[in-house]
Amino acid sequence: MSEIKTQLVVLGAGPGGYSAAFRAADLGIETVIVDARETLGGVCLNVGCIPSKALLHVAKVIDEARDMADHGISFGEPKIDLDKVRSWKDSVVGQLTKGLAGMSKMRKVKHVQGYGKFTGKNSLEVDGPDGKTTIKFDNAIIAAGSEPVTLPFIPKDDERVIDSSGALEMKDIPEKMLVLGGGIIGLEMGTVYKALGSQIDVVEFLDQLVPAADKDIIKVYQKYIKDKFNVMLETKVTNVEAKDDGLYVSFEGKQAPSDPVRYDKVLVAVGRRPNGGRVDADKAGVKVDDKGFISVDKQMKTNVDHIYAIGDLVGQPMLAHKAVHEGHVAAEVIAGKKHYFDPRCIPSVAYTDPEIAWVGLTEKEAKEKGVNVETATFPWAASGRAIASARTEGMTKMIFDKDSGRVVGGAIVGINAGEMLGEIGLAIEMGADAEDVALTIHAHPTLNESIGLASEIFEGSITDLP
Ligand code: FAD
Repeated sequence: MSEIKTQLVVLGAGPGGYSAAFRAADLGIETVIVDARETLGGVCLNVGCIPSKALLHVAKVIDEARDMADHGISFGEPKIDLDKVRSWKDSVVGQLTKGLAGMSKMRKVKHVQGYGKFTGKNSLEVDGPDGKTTIKFDNAIIAAGSEPVTLPFIPKDDERVIDSSGALEMKDIPEKMLVLGGGIIGLEMGTVYKALGSQIDVVEFLDQLVPAADKDIIKVYQKYIKDKFNVMLETKVTNVEAKDDGLYVSFEGKQAPSDPVRYDKVLVAVGRRPNGGRVDADKAGVKVDDKGFISVDKQMKTNVDHIYAIGDLVGQPMLAHKAVHEGHVAAEVIAGKKHYFDPRCIPSVAYTDPEIAWVGLTEKEAKEKGVNVETATFPWAASGRAIASARTEGMTKMIFDKDSGRVVGGAIVGINAGEMLGEIGLAIEMGADAEDVALTIHAHPTLNESIGLASEIFEGSITDLP
């Protein structure tokens, strides 16, 4: 057993962990990062944000090529070489994980590969391919992330039942796939497989897809995808029976088929569970709740003074950019800076087709909080750029506090919604009001104009539409 002494150990090398480790090293703190994976980057780089976006890019190109037939350009049916698609996706991941390894080396952050567990208030044991290592630390940051939730009534060792990681492996293109769970991850993977040729059913227990977003935004999305996916809302899966010729799924609820339906694959995407309960945090005195979340204060400190926690395991939203900012705060506090994690808003994006993006308060949340809410929506049917791109289904919605005129939230459904959202986030962070946004000159013709125009609608100053 080897032993390492360090000022800081970071457990988990996802976006939270590596961002914390790099910032700490930049601030002169001797840092060791531990991860069970061979590569840095965690879920996000290895089996999450990045590979899914590489595949969504493939899906977008296929869909756009198909749609072009309506505008006089036909490319014919795409020929899909799945091995090449997979190796391209892997090369994207490889490029980024290699970049992280370089940045880590440059900063002299030591990477110890293996599964780490606390053995005391100032010690961690790592079980890795090169044996066991004891790490004695002055400070620790727990950044062990989350893993997919599994369902008890679904066969475990059947390779036709997959989670998001299995879906990203792209072993084959199933003829018929059920996406169990109508949240962001399930819909993104459904978008990919649909473009590659699968028939997709989506089942969601609640009465809308992507339940965290406002209903009117999701209505636009649902209308657009109605001919692509068969969506069953207010419906649940009660059983999955594995037979030689497929998985037979039984449903219950509003849109449930009466008989079991046969699928080639079932993608389970019903949420993620925090890994707080899997690192023996109690041996260091750190409190973990029943679900596996670790509570922290605004400086990302746990109940133990020298141990911090960040990322998916400290709470919702489970998103990479939240983890990164929390990681920076934890590292800076350890370095003696007076920093706090106190954002006014955290953006959420479903990179589906069309994209769904929202930031700040949703209309529903604003009303629940007692804000005197007024919304202004700009339909993309009136946007010159959307019309020229043949994608007029979109909508931009701005949410204001009527009393102060301040922007408190915003949501966009449409192509490039995720890229557009930054402006609304900045408006909220800066305390901008409708007039600020409306008087900002947006380039024409852009989809971004819709943000300015929605704000003009609130101001009552809109006179004509482009
Ligand atoms: P993680 O990224 O979860 O990393 C934790 C790391 O800790 C892992 O590498 C794990 O191996 C390691 N680990 C855990 N326990 C131990 C242990 N005991 N010892 C050693 N190592 C350990 N978010 C976005 O913001 N945008 C997106 O587009 C997006 N797309 C996604 C797509 C998919 C398919 C999935 C699954 C997730 C997606 N997410 C996205 C969510 C995002 O991946 C997570 O929010 C983010 O990765 C959380 O970062 P983290 O630092 O908390 O930990």
